[in-house]
Parts: sequence; structure tokens; C-alpha cells
Amino acid sequence: MINVPISLFFIISTSAVIILFVLAYFLIAKSEQITSLQNSFIKLRNSFNDLDEQAKLIVKTDLELNKAQEESEKRLHDLDNLQKISRLISTTLEENELFLRLENTLKTNVNYEKTLILLTHETGELNKKISLGFTPDEVTLILTNLQKDLSLMDSLKNGKSITSINAARIKKTALNELFHVNHFIISPILSQTSVVGLYFVGNKSNASPITEGDEELISVLANQIGQSLENARLFEQVYRSSQQLEKKVQERTQQLEKALTEVQNISKTKSEFISSVSHELRTPLTSIKGYAAILMSGKLGEIPLSVKERLQKINTHSDNLVNLINDLLDISRIESGKAEMNIATCNIKKIIDNVADLLTPQMKDKKINWVAKVSADIPEMHLDSSQVDRVFINLISNAIKFTPENGTISVEALLEDNHVNFSVSDTGIGIEKNDIDRLFDEFFRVENKINQNVKGTGLGLALVKKIVEAHRGKIWITSEINKGSTFNFTLPIEHNPEKV
Ligand code: ADP
Repeated sequence: MINVPISLFFIISTSAVIILFVLAYFLIAKSEQITSLQNSFIKLRNSFNDLDEQAKLIVKTDLELNKAQEESEKRLHDLDNLQKISRLISTTLEENELFLRLENTLKTNVNYEKTLILLTHETGELNKKISLGFTPDEVTLILTNLQKDLSLMDSLKNGKSITSINAARIKKTALNELFHVNHFIISPILSQTSVVGLYFVGNKSNASPITEGDEELISVLANQIGQSLENARLFEQVYRSSQQLEKKVQERTQQLEKALTEVQNISKTKSEFISSVSHELRTPLTSIKGYAAILMSGKLGEIPLSVKERLQKINTHSDNLVNLINDLLDISRIESGKAEMNIATCNIKKIIDNVADLLTPQMKDKKINWVAKVSADIPEMHLDSSQVDRVFINLISNAIKFTPENGTISVEALLEDNHVNFSVSDTGIGIEKNDIDRLFDEFFRVENKINQNVKGTGLGLALVKKIVEAHRGKIWITSEINKGSTFNFTLPIEHNPEKV
């Protein structure tokens, strides 16, 4: 009986121990599971935290990207405006028009609550050019203040903008108060040499602060205004001086026209005077010549040789006087257009040969070599042959007069288009450049030894020029001292009184 309880006890205790072991084993296993779960939970929480951080970062980046995009869009819009404004103001050269265009564009395109553009007048006074968002009283107050305290204008002299970002605190507060804003940009308007004004923009609202992009935009715009203003002012200057010049030219032209009319009147009076005096002189001269001839002929009784010689002199001098008077009369007649031209068909070679024949004795006396080259293709010309005779006689006589012995005188005639080019050349003393221009003036004679010894009137070349021009030709001279002179002139084949 005692053995039964003992064995039972043993079984029970053994079972209990086993159960305890099993329990202990399960407990240990669970605890490990719990630890592992705890670890997983911590990891999960960390991952969650990381994710949270990343989400925040993404949101932040997104916000920043949005802001950057907004800024880029604003920048693009500003640049577009800038381009429009630049184009508008650079295409006018009138100052008032420039500011009118600018004001119209700024009203619609540039988004600042307040804009003010001031210019410095030559007197130093500041003038309002554009004001947007200010009352007239505010503008007056700003002008008075800036005029009184020149420190703002002075600080713009370095060419840099003053803004609510870069201004010192005291200055910023003062400017904020003066312009009634919280954010501002003040850019200098510069000419090539100085500050000619200022460009102000500002915002009161703190929701619209000024950015660096704004500062850049306004300073570029201020520069553009400065340049356009300079162009407009330069143009104005050029325009004004051209107006003055035009006025002066008009005045001078009037003076010249008046002087020309006076000269023409004087010249007319002179021609009339010469003409009437010449006529008056010709009649008594003809009588003197006539009486001298009667006396010389002995019809009124024999006269001694000495008297005859004196009478001969009277005759020669009378001839000279008649020639002079004839030249004077011809010149005044041609000048006044009263000379009648006897235009007829002429052979120019014949005219030149006849004159050469006439002057051969003088040429022989000085052993002058005579050369005449007249182109065979020159057709018959229409001219006043007696007048053209006088041209050749005068030119060739002069050539003989001013060419030393054994020299050469050549006459050439060449056909060109509808006219003939003539030249009378010599190997004589030549003419100074200064004298050439005056050679065709009436009574002009060069001061030289030959002229001191040989008498002359200084009318020959004046007459030659008048005759050539009456035929609608031109005359000019080329000459070299001690080498010779060439008198060139043209005569048209057909006479056309209308053509000059
Ligand atoms: P004149 O022969 O009566 O003095 P002209 O009018 O014919 O008047 O000539 C004016 C001047 O031009 C002459 O005095 C002379 O000084 C100059 N002159 C003209 N022809 C020649 C020439 N072939 N060579 C040099 N000088 C000349």
C-alpha cells in the first residue's frame, strides 16, 4: 500500500518537472519571438520616420520648384516687356514722344504699385516726366525734398541702383517714408557724362517685395531711357543746327541774290554807258581820221613832210582808238544781248587759213613756226564767221605777241560728238596760275615786260570769251611759265541759241 503512493508521487512529480520544462521551453521561445517583434517594430518606426522626412523634403522641393518656375515666368515676362519698351522708345527721336510712349507701356506692362521718372533740367531743377500711383501732391513733395537734399542724386552718380535690399537701414526708412512704399528700386538715368534723372519703382504691399531680377530689369530700362534720351537730344541739336544753317543759307542766298541784281544793274548801266560813250566818240574820231586823210592827200594844199609824219601818227592813233571803241561796243552789245549774230554755214579750215594768211607777216617777222591741224571729218559749221574770225585773230595775235622768236604756234581742231574742240598753243612766256582766272576780265593785262613795251587794251580775251559763249561754247586756258600757253575752246556744229 505504501508503494502505491510513492510511485504515484514519483509519476506526478516527474510529470510536473516535464511540464515545467515544457513550459519553460515555450516561455523562452515566446520571449525570443517578442524580442524579434520588438526589433521589427523599431525598424518599421524608423522606416516610417524616414519616409516622413522624405515626404517633407519632396513637398519642400516642390514648393521651391514652383517658386523658381514662378520667378522664371516673371523674368521672362519682364524681359519681354523690356524688349517691347526698348523697341518703342528707341524708335523715336523726339523727347516728349519718347516719354508718352513709355508712360503708355508702363501703365499696362510693368507691375509695380508706383513708378516715378524724374529728369534734371539744364538749370539743375528736377522735373517729373512720368508718375504712376502717386498723387500730384505726393510728387510735389518728393520733388521739393529731393531738390532740398541732393544726397540721393549724389549717391546715384556711381551709376548703381539704390534698392530696399541694398540700402542702409536709415536710408531705406527715409526713402520708404518719402515715397510711401516698403520696397523700392531707384536707378540712375545716365547720359554719356552725367546723371540726367532717376527711375523709381516701388511697392507698399509686403506681398510684393523687390527681387534682384527687378533691380536688373529697372536698371537696364533706365540705361535704355538714358540712351534714347541722348539720341533724341543729339538729334534735336543736329536738327536745330541744320535749321540754323538753312536759315543762314537762305539769308546769304537772299543777300547774294540782292548783290547779283545790283551787279547786274551796274553791269547794265556800265554797258549802256560804254555803248553811248563809244558811239559819241566814234563820230568825232571818224571826222578826225577823215580830216587827217584830206590833209595828207594834199587836196587842201601841199604840206611839209614833218606835218605829214604827224598826220600819219594821228591816223594810226585814230585807228587804234577806233579798234578799241569797236571792241568796247562789241562787248557791251554781246553782254546786253543786242549783238545780232549772222549765223551762216562756214568751213572752219578756211577761216583758220585766212587768219593765218592775215597774220603771216607778223609771224615771219618773228620767224615763228606755224602748225595747223584741222580734222578732215569736221563738217560745215553754223556760226557767225566774222565773230569767229575775231576769236582766232585775237588768240593768234596774242600768241605771236607773247612768243619769242623761232617759237611755234599751233592751231588744232578736232571733232567731238556735236561740237569741235579748238586749241591755240604757243611756246611763249606762259601765264601765272593766279592770273589765268582774271585773264578774261575786261581791261586785265598781266604785268610783264612784254606788256610794258607793247600797247594793248586788255579787251581782246574778254571779247573772245563773249563771242565763244554767245555761240554756246566754252573757253579755258592751260599754261606753264616759260613753256607756253594753250587757249582751248569749243564751238557747236549747229547753232542753238536756246542751249546754254
Ligand atoms: P591785250 O592783249 O590787249 O593786253 P588781251 O585781253 O588780249 O589784252 O590779253 C590780256 C592779257 O592776257 C595780256 O595782256 C597778256 O598778259 C595775257 N595773254 C594773252 N594771251 C597770252 C599768251 N598767249 N601768252 C601769254 N600771255 C597772254
